[in-house]
Amino acid sequence: MPTPLKVVAGKGTRIRLADGRSLLDCISSWWVNLYGHGHPRIAEAIHAQAQELEHVIFAGFTHEPAERVAESLTRLLPGRLSRVFFSDDGSTAVEVALKMAYQYWVNRGEKRPTFIGFEGGYHGDTVGAMSVGAPSTFSGMFSDLLFEVEHLPFPETWIGDEGVAEREDAVLQALEARLAASDRPVAGIIIEPLVQGAGGMRMCREEFLQGLRRVSEQAGTLLIFDEVMTGFGRTGERFACERAGVEPDLICLAKGLTGGFLPMAVTVASSDIYDAFVSADPEKTFWHGHSYTANPIGCAAALASFELLAESESAFRGMEQHHREFLGRLDPAITERPRVTGTIVAFEIRTDGTGGYFDRVGDELKKRTIQKGLLLRPLGNTVYLMPPYCLTDDERSEMYDGVAELVREVTGG
Ligand code: PLP
Repeated sequence: MPTPLKVVAGKGTRIRLADGRSLLDCISSWWVNLYGHGHPRIAEAIHAQAQELEHVIFAGFTHEPAERVAESLTRLLPGRLSRVFFSDDGSTAVEVALKMAYQYWVNRGEKRPTFIGFEGGYHGDTVGAMSVGAPSTFSGMFSDLLFEVEHLPFPETWIGDEGVAEREDAVLQALEARLAASDRPVAGIIIEPLVQGAGGMRMCREEFLQGLRRVSEQAGTLLIFDEVMTGFGRTGERFACERAGVEPDLICLAKGLTGGFLPMAVTVASSDIYDAFVSADPEKTFWHGHSYTANPIGCAAALASFELLAESESAFRGMEQHHREFLGRLDPAITERPRVTGTIVAFEIRTDGTGGYFDRVGDELKKRTIQKGLLLRPLGNTVYLMPPYCLTDDERSEMYDGVAELVREVTGG
């Protein structure tokens, strides 16, 4: 095994290694860090809350930080998403959404044991999240343990792609036909809206999500948006659902929720879903909870993070234009499928290998990024950038110049 690099500090967009080197964090450290490392406002909020109430059981008890997080979030999210359920990380936010969707139908007197997901989808590493994610090397070992999910093609697109509308229509028609099969009713459809993360930063159009909403509503099944990665400004709007003008029935949020400081997640449901669980009958209760549910320190970090989100609007809205200009600099002879959505930009390096997650060029890229002082984590031959919103003009040039140089080096272009 290669020895991991030891990190001793993080400030703003930089992390410092034990050997004294410093790296520019171009991917927000596994896509969690929105406003830079060690942001003093979040650090202070955590400090103050830890002295007041560090943790308390969240069954039969509540507290102000959790109530304020729920109120703030439901103000930020589109209309129907009004009921907040706390959990620990992106995977558990997805587990909760799946269990809620399943039980929603059971509570209404229907059995619907099937979900629909998308090829290339990734929703986490717990068993339910692996089931709805696309079959992959990550989940293959456990395939016997996974429940049944049908995966539709994801109509990915990129700058200059002309065939996307037909591909979207084909998927929506297949979905419509599938949902009409009344002998196998579907509990819900789960998608990473606008950008599939771990599957290779694959992007789809807002029009596709609008079509998905229309078809799922007509067929009477639930639509779940996994915005674990796309939430909190990543797509250039506060949420991908806002950018697409689509209201899902359930939304999963984690990663950026606390600005990248602490693990915490929420699943937010429509009031319609909530109402199906309100009953004196214990069979209708949603029996799910974690020890650290709505941890007050995590909630304090989230509240500070929401304030910073409001102050960062021009940064996350403006990043797409810079990314677009950067893509224009890349040589199409050595790169392909340039694409951008808000703060996320990606492209593929042309390769004579297989492409994909295990393409050899990925290892070569990883080695050279550190030498260049950049923190990048290419997904095989896919290179992507997703920096924190506090990136300065100079850091942006450093990042783009470094990546352009890297691509030339590994391709000999
Ligand atoms: N959903 C999406 C879209 C993700 O990108 C991830 C993680 O990368 C997850 C869920 C799982 O989140 P976590 O790693 O916090 O469990």
